[in-house]
Amino acid sequence: MEQLKQEVESCTKCPLHKTRTKAVFGNGNLDAEIMIIAEGPGYYEDQSGTVFQGKSGELLDKVLAACCFSRDEHVYISNIVKCRPPNNRAPIEIEKEVCLTYLYQQIERVDPKIIILLGATALKGLIDPNAKITQVRGQWIKWKDRMVMPTYHPSALLRNPTLKRPVWEDFKAVVAKYRELVNAAHYSAHC
Ligand code: SF4
Repeated sequence: MEQLKQEVESCTKCPLHKTRTKAVFGNGNLDAEIMIIAEGPGYYEDQSGTVFQGKSGELLDKVLAACCFSRDEHVYISNIVKCRPPNNRAPIEIEKEVCLTYLYQQIERVDPKIIILLGATALKGLIDPNAKITQVRGQWIKWKDRMVMPTYHPSALLRNPTLKRPVWEDFKAVVAKYRELVNAAHYSAHC
């Protein structure tokens, strides 16, 4: 994985390398049974080289903590594209297509039983370009012998707090699936 990380950090395969500060490869436990995949780096991630910083990162950490999951132990987090699109625009098709080769290798290496997709770009990038997050969130999808849960991105919750309830329901379903597939004794006071 270290070799792949170095490859990403010096990658020039799509135009996003021209405007990035740092490529953001991914962080977490390489042996985690849960992988979280989002769209791509934002401003703070681009500056630090680390996934999910700033307010979205704080919110994700709160949700994970409520599930008794931690970034270091239970999850590995990465993105569809590893370099920040200018002005936080959504990545375009060619950028996603080229960069996905890295994500596929990360998934193979981490080999998670459960994948959580945060937001429409992650859903479309990994599962189906025509899928709509509003229609499939909260529903398990079987993908390459892994169970995939699509839900909203934390930044969507910051813009629209009414989405917090459905996202919490989706994460409760993840905890139940984690108990079923990984650790029946996983404890969470909240779900
Ligand atoms: S977004 Fe991906 S493919 Fe494009 S330059 Fe960055 S690492 Fe390479």
